[in-house]
Amino acid sequence: MAYFNNRKPTAEHVYEDTVIWQCSSCNCWSRKEFIAEFEPTCPICHSKMNEETKKIRVQ
Ligand SMILES: [Zn+2]
Repeated sequence: MAYFNNRKPTAEHVYEDTVIWQCSSCNCWSRKEFIAEFEPTCPICHSKMNEETKKIRVQ
């Protein structure tokens, strides 16, 4: 019996637009839903963080 190498479709990663806080000075960022502060500062460099939307892999 011949088995064809029937390739399953590669699982595609799912990305979701997520609101984050992005540090203005370094690459640090965090999901907004995890931050309770109204105007958070970067935990690494203590710079101001800007609200942005980032595509985050969810699957
Ligand atoms: Zn920073």
